[in-house]
Amino acid sequence: MTQEYRITLLPGDGIGPEIMAVAVDVLKTVAALQGNLSFTFQEALVGGAAVDAVGQPLPEETLDKCRNSDAVLLAAIGGYKWDALPRELRPETGLLGLRAGLELFANLRPAQIVPQLINASSLKPEVISGVDLMVVRELTGGIYFGKPRGIFATETGEQRGFNTMAYSDSEIDRIGRVAFETARKRSRKLCSVDKANVLEVSQLWRDRITALSAEYPDVELTHLYVDNAAMQLVRAPKQFDTIVTGNLFGDILSDIAAMLTGSIGMLPSASMGASGPGLFEPVHGSAPDIAGQDKANPLAQVLSAAMMLRYGLNQPEAANRIEQAVQKVLEAGYRTIDIQSPGTTVLGCQAMGEELIRALGT
Ligand code: NAD
Repeated sequence: MTQEYRITLLPGDGIGPEIMAVAVDVLKTVAALQGNLSFTFQEALVGGAAVDAVGQPLPEETLDKCRNSDAVLLAAIGGYKWDALPRELRPETGLLGLRAGLELFANLRPAQIVPQLINASSLKPEVISGVDLMVVRELTGGIYFGKPRGIFATETGEQRGFNTMAYSDSEIDRIGRVAFETARKRSRKLCSVDKANVLEVSQLWRDRITALSAEYPDVELTHLYVDNAAMQLVRAPKQFDTIVTGNLFGDILSDIAAMLTGSIGMLPSASMGASGPGLFEPVHGSAPDIAGQDKANPLAQVLSAAMMLRYGLNQPEAANRIEQAVQKVLEAGYRTIDIQSPGTTVLGCQAMGEELIRALGT
């Protein structure tokens, strides 16, 4: 039986349309090869492109289309052109609105060392060789959203700024479930990161995650304090498989984990809600400095499409096909300019897409 999926495409700004075109070709090819998959694509406006067309970065129509689809594939938003606009009209506001509108509380960011690009990392090859980990970050709670917050004047005439780090049982449980399920799709090892030695909110986090582990006896659970986790990530990253943590710690640790690989043009991400479609996008931005020049690396976008298949649509076989095709083109020595090294063949964005299609067919 053929599985049909409606995918909303948000090409956005800068290099977005170029890398999205490659991902769509790859998805169409995968569907043809699988034989049991079919995609209906619908495009919508977001970011600067939406500001230019309709005067706001997240039109209601876009949100409606996203809600009425099985998954959302986003490229990137933003650019110098819109930097001076008031905050409500900035492309980034559109992206935040999208995450909020789709109630995406879980952010998944893998960091996997591609053997062919091992020298792109600032760490020693023997430390990072074989790294394959996933950071699951809580995205809509914690200190970034906690209330009360603000800056007030004290009696002594000083100003005092403050924020609130708070998590409720249900918020911890729902991100915990995503993390345990994610670990199940990987090596069944989950490390929960907190600061339970100092923070009550972290003590609750640790208690709830520990209680939840009874439902997942097949997943091995460990705990680390965030300062130690940061150290371990650069000291011995191979010890990790899946990491789950709150918003603030996850913001920092996911960037550390990403940079283990050293190449921003290679990093995909997924954001998921309790129900409804997930949002899949590269970690990088719209790279306005190289937009329209056929220089962009489309691989993070293509790997985001693979994450969409694996985590959003539960089609691991199709996801594997894409990941293997990426591996093959790199093994064949093809590179975009951002990841080139001596002895490799530099291709433009479009030509890299053509090589991917060729690799998929072999
Ligand atoms: P950026 O990620 O766009 O670019 C940083 C550097 O990496 C640039 O030199 C760029 O050319 C390069 N780069 C990024 N992606 C690449 C790719 N796929 N192939 C080759 N080179 C690539 O970050 P920035 O310059 O800080 O931001 C540019 C714009 O993107 C800003 O408007 C920012 O707000 C926006 N942005 C958007 C997102 C998003 O859509 N999720 C994320 C980050 C930044």
